[in-house]
Amino acid sequence: MDGEVARPLGLGLERLIMKPGRSNRTQSLLVAAAVSALGCSGGRQNARGADPARVNAHISKATEIAGADLRTPLELCETAGHVHVPSADLTNEVRAPMANSYMDPVRVFDNLYFVGTTWVSSWAVRTSGGIVLIDALDNDQEAHDSIEGGLRKLGLDPAEIRYVLITHAHGDHYGGANYLVRKYHARVFLSEIDWRELEKSSLEFDTPLWGRPPRRDGIVKDGERLSLGDTTIEVYATPGHTPGALSFAFPVSDHGQPHRALLWGGFGINAGPIASRFRSFVESTRRAQTLVRDEHIDVLIANHPSIDDSPTKMKELAQRPPGGRHSYVIGEQAVGRFLAVAGECTAAALASFDASAAPP
Ligand SMILES: [Zn+2]
Repeated sequence: MDGEVARPLGLGLERLIMKPGRSNRTQSLLVAAAVSALGCSGGRQNARGADPARVNAHISKATEIAGADLRTPLELCETAGHVHVPSADLTNEVRAPMANSYMDPVRVFDNLYFVGTTWVSSWAVRTSGGIVLIDALDNDQEAHDSIEGGLRKLGLDPAEIRYVLITHAHGDHYGGANYLVRKYHARVFLSEIDWRELEKSSLEFDTPLWGRPPRRDGIVKDGERLSLGDTTIEVYATPGHTPGALSFAFPVSDHGQPHRALLWGGFGINAGPIASRFRSFVESTRRAQTLVRDEHIDVLIANHPSIDDSPTKMKELAQRPPGGRHSYVIGEQAVGRFLAVAGECTAAALASFDASAAPP
């Protein structure tokens, strides 16, 4: 799960930051919230290893990079001073966002379909050799209603699902995988590290609202290219959200116009103040910015609709005039900035509890 979405505070901030033209005010509110949460007023490093001046600097940089157009990744800055700790009652934490979360599926590109819910995303990549599904929602019911039902509504046959790629080992992404394995004999792929997470006797996050982990099947590695029919999906290890989180780069097209998408496999660190996770995430976002430039990636997709702002983008897409701009095509520079904002906010969060571990 990407914990920020479930937190009332996070949703409150999202409403605040969605207002255009308020970046300075947003920044001062973020800084004030972070510094007050640290219980510090000065710029010195305190006994717990927090460095408010450094937190402030990262939030300022994130706010500047975000500009007026990238408000959703800036929400990650709220974790500075409020690092998410796994709740003892995860069921209650996820019950609300999961309730009444059905939404109609959307054909976003010629070959990319959204078959997720209002809370968590599942994306279907259509190829000449069948469908590659990225993430499998929370449980059997959602796999039945949103994935199977959604594909049918969009004129696709769920029996065409060949591969299910799971971004990371949290139940809101793999919970519906067993349904697709049982019914369609789909093959499930994860990173080796996250398969191992799923085989532990106690999962990092779990609730009876999520389906059981799938049985170990395929492993995908950093730099690997997964081909099905006419489409190749590149696999990148982007550790941070979980140690084995994966992201995927692949071609999409809009009325025949080619673009390149990066689907990022987990924003926000919600496993508690584990410095190595935060540091890994920052390093992953830095590495990915090079990838974005090298591959001219102009589309950024997330695995929760609130993070890539799918509700706004889908509305714009539905109302697009003929020949108008595709709302998900934000351009190579904005994709890079999106990742930079997420990295700066995560660096701010790290400096809020362990400045000594912060990356340069
Ligand atoms: Zn997660």
